Amino acid sequence: MKQTKAYAAASASSPLKLNHIQRRTLTSSDVAIDVLFCGVCHSDLHTVRDEWSSIMPTTYPCVPGHEIVGKVVGVGSEVTAVKVGDTVGVGCLVDSDQACPMCHAHVEQFCGHAVFTYNSPDKHLGGVTYGGYSEYMVVDHRFVLRVPDHLDLAGAAPLLCAGITTYSPMRRWGNLQGKRVGVVGLGGLGHMGVKFARAFGADVTVFTTSSSKLEDAIRLGAHHVVLSSDADAMKQHAFSFDFVLDTISADHDLNSYIQLLILDGTLTLVGAPENPMPVSSFGLLFGRKNVNGSLIGGIKETQEMLDFCGQHNITADVEVIPIQKINEAYERLLKSDVKYRFSIYMASLREN
Ligand code: NAP
Ligand code: ZN
Repeated sequence: MKQTKAYAAASASSPLKLNHIQRRTLTSSDVAIDVLFCGVCHSDLHTVRDEWSSIMPTTYPCVPGHEIVGKVVGVGSEVTAVKVGDTVGVGCLVDSDQACPMCHAHVEQFCGHAVFTYNSPDKHLGGVTYGGYSEYMVVDHRFVLRVPDHLDLAGAAPLLCAGITTYSPMRRWGNLQGKRVGVVGLGGLGHMGVKFARAFGADVTVFTTSSSKLEDAIRLGAHHVVLSSDADAMKQHAFSFDFVLDTISADHDLNSYIQLLILDGTLTLVGAPENPMPVSSFGLLFGRKNVNGSLIGGIKETQEMLDFCGQHNITADVEVIPIQKINEAYERLLKSDVKYRFSIYMASLREN
């Protein structure tokens, strides 16, 4: 075992602060990683504050972080896919049973024995898994991704969650070339959704509550942008979208986005607000509309997404912060005041 510095929350109302955790001794199938950057996902904040208590209660201390980029510093004897010195990524998953129909279908995120990167039972050490707000990690090689070396690493870290979560449902929808795509909420997920939709050839519209993001939406690749508080503009866009990706992190009126869909159109929810949200049946009946959800993506698809980003030079727009600023960053995330992802420079933890 190896003691490692990490930032942890002691309870739902405590700030994150320096702590020490244990990482397991490398097994033959493990990869040891020095963490370089870790993105700050809104799921980290939901989990730290126990906002998903009815579905996934948080065990404390909680070390979040699942948008991890690091350098390999050790490999077990069975590991051939990566070697010491490689740049690698770890996303939201660190294990699964590798035997069930979900794993065979490459959707390990739905495996009944999936182990998430933090706040999931740790079968090696007991307790729960600890995430990437830490110096060092040990991860089974099947859950370690190759990160294209030429990408900016601070901006590549968010691909491991925000990237795959937006890439996966768009790919699954089908060929978006020339289709009208709406991205709702221009945060960490939303801005990646815009970049992918644009790269897939869609006609992209951003729906935002923030007037300060209107110009950025276009700079990021959108063709159109709508302030969602403008009822007239929302009405003008009714019945015109093939696909809408909803990334909002807080409770909101789903019906106003369902009305945007054309006949047989689909609204995919990736945002995970704390409370259930009412849906009007009539809004779905008229136009045979579909509402579904999507959870990250499997490991194979995550590698495909990273390779796609390597080919198209796609990374997140990040504000790089030292870990000591994490509590302030959470307050800003709550105010939608980040353009568009915080990425923690993990060397700052080594200096702590
Ligand atoms: P984020 O960076 O905070 O972005 C969320 C955006 O939602 C904000 O930037 C804001 O966009 C909009 N928003 C916030 N409060 C709002 C409100 N009250 N009404 C309307 N719009 C509001 O968060 P994120 O990291 O992208 O995550 C978004 C959500 O996805 C979170 O709930 C997170 O837990 C979830 N998530 C799900 C998955 C999955 O696998 N399904 C993976 C990762 C994250 P504007 O300023 O443009 O309005
Ligand atoms: Zn995430």
